[in-house]
Amino acid sequence: MTNIQKNLPDFIVEWIDVGILVVNRNMEITLWNHFMARHSERRADEVIGKNLFSCFPDLPETWLAKKIQSVFLLKNFAFTSWEQRPYLFRFPHNRPITGGCEFMFQNCTFLPVKNESGEVESVCITLMDATDVAFSQTLLKEALETLGESSNRDGLTGIYNRRYLEKHIAIEFDRAKRYGEAFSFILFDLDHFKKVNDGYGHLGGDEVLRSIAQRVGSMLRTTDTFGRYGGEEFGIILPFTSLEDSCFLADRVRKAIEQTPVNFQDTQIKVSISMGVSAFKIDQSGYEQLIDEADQALYASKKAGRNRVTCHSPG
Ligand code: GH3
Ligand code: MG
Ligand code: MG
Repeated sequence: MTNIQKNLPDFIVEWIDVGILVVNRNMEITLWNHFMARHSERRADEVIGKNLFSCFPDLPETWLAKKIQSVFLLKNFAFTSWEQRPYLFRFPHNRPITGGCEFMFQNCTFLPVKNESGEVESVCITLMDATDVAFSQTLLKEALETLGESSNRDGLTGIYNRRYLEKHIAIEFDRAKRYGEAFSFILFDLDHFKKVNDGYGHLGGDEVLRSIAQRVGSMLRTTDTFGRYGGEEFGIILPFTSLEDSCFLADRVRKAIEQTPVNFQDTQIKVSISMGVSAFKIDQSGYEQLIDEADQALYASKKAGRNRVTCHSPG
């Protein structure tokens, strides 16, 4: 064997792009490779022979000492991933700080190093830099959450869309049926909205929709669910609310819309809304009937002259 071949394993251990350190039973460092020296800014000759925890007081001593002791005792490999514990050593990383963590994410392995008689003499710890994987997984998770959220939202107004409203009303309906609790649904539609579009253009119409959505949203409780049901039609789900209380709220909303015109460019656009209210009843066939009843009540408001609230009366 040539000299180079003999030293090859040492050479690899020293220069591989993985952190490698070895500790003995007294937790003294006996090996410290170039990766560890570079990232910790502590040379091997500064730490070899010294206690791991006195050299690095930031280490989670109780947890890590137990982990190392278990390898001595059980003579088995052990692992930790960045998902369980983001890092062991607080090493800065060289990526832009956009992934939400200042430190290098690490996957760690603990290997028992045995002598000829099979006794574990020391424990070797390897550290893999998992920052790129952690960053991309975090970004992916965030993107999926945003995507999931935006699929529930209406693009123009930012409030919930019809898909979400229907999903939610179905859930509320089942809950009310099971526990016999009150809950109501309000449907409202802008009056003569075609005239708004004709008079102020589509941009004026859009501004009215955004403004109404914002104003109504600010009048509701956080437990209420408010969404755009169609073009200029909106729905509000009110859990734990009787027909009477919902009609009272609906009339407050109606008055507020009537009294405050929408600012658009240099003008003010006067708007009014017609509303229909229905409440959960135990004999309803499903949430579709509840929506249908609110729709009938809304139609009655239109027929009676608009800018009013109609409560669906049973029978
Ligand atoms: P009514 O009082 O009977 O409700 O009268 P209306 O004029 O509001 O009647 P209708 O419901 O038939 O008209 C709705 C109009 O809303 C027609 C459509 O062009 C307009 N609209 C639907 N979606 C949008 C939108 O996103 N932006 C704008 N600007 N207009 C929209
Ligand atoms: Mg309308
Ligand atoms: Mg309409």
